[in-house]
Amino acid sequence: MTVAIIVHGGAKTISNDKAKANIDGCTAALEAGWAILQRGGSAKDAVEAAIRVLEDDPTFNASMGATLDTDGEVYLDAAMMDGSNLGWGGVVAVQGVSHPISVARKIMDDKPRLLASEGAERYAREHGFEMCKPSNLITLEQRQHWEKEEAVLDRPATVGCVALDDSGTLVAGTSTGGVANQPPGRVGDSAIVGCGLYADGKVGACSTTGDGESIIPVVLAKTAVDLLAQDRHPDEAAQMAIETLKQKVTGEAGCILIDPQGRVGWAHNSQGMAVAYMTTEMDKPEVFTRKESKPYSQKD
Ligand code: ASP
Repeated sequence: MTVAIIVHGGAKTISNDKAKANIDGCTAALEAGWAILQRGGSAKDAVEAAIRVLEDDPTFNASMGATLDTDGEVYLDAAMMDGSNLGWGGVVAVQGVSHPISVARKIMDDKPRLLASEGAERYAREHGFEMCKPSNLITLEQRQHWEKEEAVLDRPATVGCVALDDSGTLVAGTSTGGVANQPPGRVGDSAIVGCGLYADGKVGACSTTGDGESIIPVVLAKTAVDLLAQDRHPDEAAQMAIETLKQKVTGEAGCILIDPQGRVGWAHNSQGMAVAYMTTEMDKPEVFTRKESKPYSQKD
């Protein structure tokens, strides 16, 4: 049985001076998830552990270091989906929750639901999750961009993870602070099943990132998973999913995929996307800040 994990740090522009932070952050997240899978742990635990590392890292737009809305506030969305039973759970527009992915996972294990704002925060508090002052998640860098209304090219973006454990369970998770300067109340694709994530144990699992308003109408994560049919390689399916988005709407996006055989794939049409993956078929992890420009079909 192949065991596999892939993480992403968002579809975005990665400037040279931020490349190392993206590589280090994705590597640390991968190691946290891989350690769990290697000792026979579950894909749910691995996805949660990997995303918690990314949520703590201000290089990425999830929890600590998330981007601010036009009011200067941080709101977070996260969700998890379990391909073994189509279980899912998510939170949207929450404040002061240190690890939204852990709350999403608990909701998934309890009863599939998407909980929003105060209701989700109350759920998190009542179930003993770590809470903080909403402003504690705002970094100086993000505050300064907001104050100066700077048009920043290399803003942080959403994080995600997909894992396959040794029982054959596929799980996907995604966590985000939305997009910079989003209007108050805006919720993107990240915690919406089919859009920001999807997992079907018999077909594959996917986490996406990019312009939520473009990802939602093409149901990007479900589209990518559907493209795995007829044994298509996940790398080709990922590329085709991004091509579908490009043909139908305007926008930038990226996705990561694993199929039930433990094959991994990813694609993006943004300038960069930090990705790290590891499987039992590999000697060491692979880590990237962008995919080579040559499309999958032209590879030898
Ligand atoms: N998809 C996220 C959103 O629209 C943003 C991102 O992936 O960076 O909220």
